[in-house]
Amino acid sequence: MNSADDRRRAGYRNGGTEVKVSCPRLSLNDSLEGEVQAFLTDEDQLHTYDDLTKVNPVTPTTVLKCLQARYSAKVFYTHAGCTLVALNPFQPIPGLYSLDVMKEYHYAPQPQEFKPHIFIVAEEAYRNVQGQLEPVNQSLVVSGESGAGKTWTSRCLMKYYATVAVTSSVVRSQDTVERIEKRVLDSNPIMEAFGNACTLRNNNSSRFGKYIQLQLNRCQLLVGASVQTYLLEKTRVACQPANERNFHIFYQMMKGATEEQRKEWKMLQDQHFVWLPRSEKTVEEDCFNETVEAMVHLGIDTERQNQIFRILAGILQLGNVSFSSSTDESQPCNLDEQSKGFLQRAAELLQVPAEELQTCLKVRTLKAGKQNVLKPCSQAECSVRRDCLAKVIYAQLFEWLVTFINNSICADRSMWCNFIGVLDVYGFECFQINNLEQLCINYANEKLQQHFVAHYLRAQQEEYVSEGLKWSFVKYQDNQSCLDLIEGSPISVFSLLNEESRLNRASDAKMLRVRLEKELCDNANISWDKFSKVPHFTVAHYAGKVNYQIEGMVEKNKDPVPPELISLLQKSDNRLLQQIFTEKEVESQTSKGLSKVTVVSKFKNSLESLMKILHSTTPHYTRCIKPNPDCKPLTFRKEEVIMQLEACGIVETIHISAAGFPIRIPFKSFIQRYGLIAKYSGSGSHSVDLEADSDGVLQLEVKNVLRAALHCLSSEKHSSLVHCGRTKVFL
Ligand code: ADP
Ligand code: MG
Repeated sequence: MNSADDRRRAGYRNGGTEVKVSCPRLSLNDSLEGEVQAFLTDEDQLHTYDDLTKVNPVTPTTVLKCLQARYSAKVFYTHAGCTLVALNPFQPIPGLYSLDVMKEYHYAPQPQEFKPHIFIVAEEAYRNVQGQLEPVNQSLVVSGESGAGKTWTSRCLMKYYATVAVTSSVVRSQDTVERIEKRVLDSNPIMEAFGNACTLRNNNSSRFGKYIQLQLNRCQLLVGASVQTYLLEKTRVACQPANERNFHIFYQMMKGATEEQRKEWKMLQDQHFVWLPRSEKTVEEDCFNETVEAMVHLGIDTERQNQIFRILAGILQLGNVSFSSSTDESQPCNLDEQSKGFLQRAAELLQVPAEELQTCLKVRTLKAGKQNVLKPCSQAECSVRRDCLAKVIYAQLFEWLVTFINNSICADRSMWCNFIGVLDVYGFECFQINNLEQLCINYANEKLQQHFVAHYLRAQQEEYVSEGLKWSFVKYQDNQSCLDLIEGSPISVFSLLNEESRLNRASDAKMLRVRLEKELCDNANISWDKFSKVPHFTVAHYAGKVNYQIEGMVEKNKDPVPPELISLLQKSDNRLLQQIFTEKEVESQTSKGLSKVTVVSKFKNSLESLMKILHSTTPHYTRCIKPNPDCKPLTFRKEEVIMQLEACGIVETIHISAAGFPIRIPFKSFIQRYGLIAKYSGSGSHSVDLEADSDGVLQLEVKNVLRAALHCLSSEKHSSLVHCGRTKVFL
């Protein structure tokens, strides 16, 4: 290993305190193929391996072969020790998620003995909530890259609980009897309509992260839910990447509105909207009725709906407004006749005075002492203000919807005692051009990976050590140094970005670049290509290297909204618009119109609360894999899959799970459950004082029970499968 690059890939920790080499990286052509041939004598049986820990030997290539064989046999789920691997079939599989299948898994005494399925994970979490001694909240973490099947999986999980954990009818008001599970499920189509879009990677890509907590009462019945969302990609409203689309809801409206609504929302059938690009892909647009129905179920009445759709229609009109620069720089930009029409209609739909809207977009108000000075904006600045208006409206509307949904589905705190959380966040992203959005998304993935490593790998190994078990260590990739680089203190990418945002300098991109290079030069996870034309920095993430463009990052982090725009919206006659901008006290706006709280600070805080919740629950991991980049049904591309397996460290996970003891029971629970064995076989003391225990006493008793059990089963030769630790039994 000679280059710094190789060292980084292999997971050397910054500062040289700890050197961890990850499992072999592979290429498809490496010599492993030969090795595999030697071991896999039963290749035609590979598809029968339900758990990758049973593959022998566990190498990236054997794991890949096994998954491929299963995929060809149309088996899409495989255990990988403590995680479930889900391969996306990219076509509906009849019967795979039917009610009967749900029941089968739910009522099975040992669902684990059934074929691997997402319902095993669901059921395990459901049973775990009750806990062995006390109830424990659960988290189902679904990860994978865009299009891998995270949202599909989350929906399956929600449907499962909405089926097996149903409560009797809940009386919501005097004459409406509604089932809460229906409401919970109805939150999906609404959030997907407003938060999903067709991208190059996925026709129904979620452009926000989501953690939904399903609230269960003492009887394990679903009584409500609450949703937390993360980082909606609001820029999409005003700027769609090439061959991608805006949020679904706009297309649904265009296609599904009635003649009358069309007239009211000023949307002609063949109207061209700049912000509604069409892509070559065929996308489902016929869901308008479904979205509206879901809104009705959740209690969004027709009047509110109309307010929402008017706002959206107003945004579309706004997108068609273009500015041309004035010949005299001291004068505001001009609008041609067409644009004047669009602006007029936008104002009517948003229910704000057209004159004022125009002024807000074209003229900036500066404070000079006690006086306001008006300064005409350049053509580019006008467009930025127009986009900013659309983005802030859409983002606040989305937030309002989420709050509304929560009010509609959240049970009173006294009604529920435990929850099962389902986390569906955007996967790791690496595009040609990456900016602040990708930095935040990849940072979130680093955090989740760390949680996974901490929870399963590190915790498992540390537990073996503390319990005095002999254990040969599996090396895993630790991503702490990458997290230190991004979020650490005192100096990190985030801290420098925040400082530059606060200083508000004209040459912020240049300054940020200089400071990153100077102040983070010691961190092995960051590098620069000094000869590159576009200034950027490269971060070595656990899932691969990503180049981040520096230009525009500071501005995105500040995310400023001119205060004139906010005051304009507060004056709107659209009650909803007025409400969302008044209620929100448009929190972070200072008098300069600059957000005091930056995007990365907000995101970091919300992630920290999420991590706190995750740490307080028992996690279950599902890794979704996208078998080909074109979303083609039943097509398995090895190169694609192997990169994803590598990115989530699946081989390391299997190594640990395969060599480990999946069942561990504290002494007390063990004796409570199995103490009788020793009693009846005549060995061991008969009344163990569980209260006045010392682990030493309990350990003696546990050993008796184990001996008796092995003796009863005549399986002393299997004694290596059983270990008595210091406080727990490992099986
Ligand atoms: P992600 O949320 O990871 O970006 P999605 O969950 O939206 O990906 O999945 C992308 C597409 O893949 C879905 O729209 C669906 O067509 C298909 N898909 C995913 N999982 C399954 C599955 N288990 N069965 C059938 N199709 C699936
Ligand atoms: Mg998704």
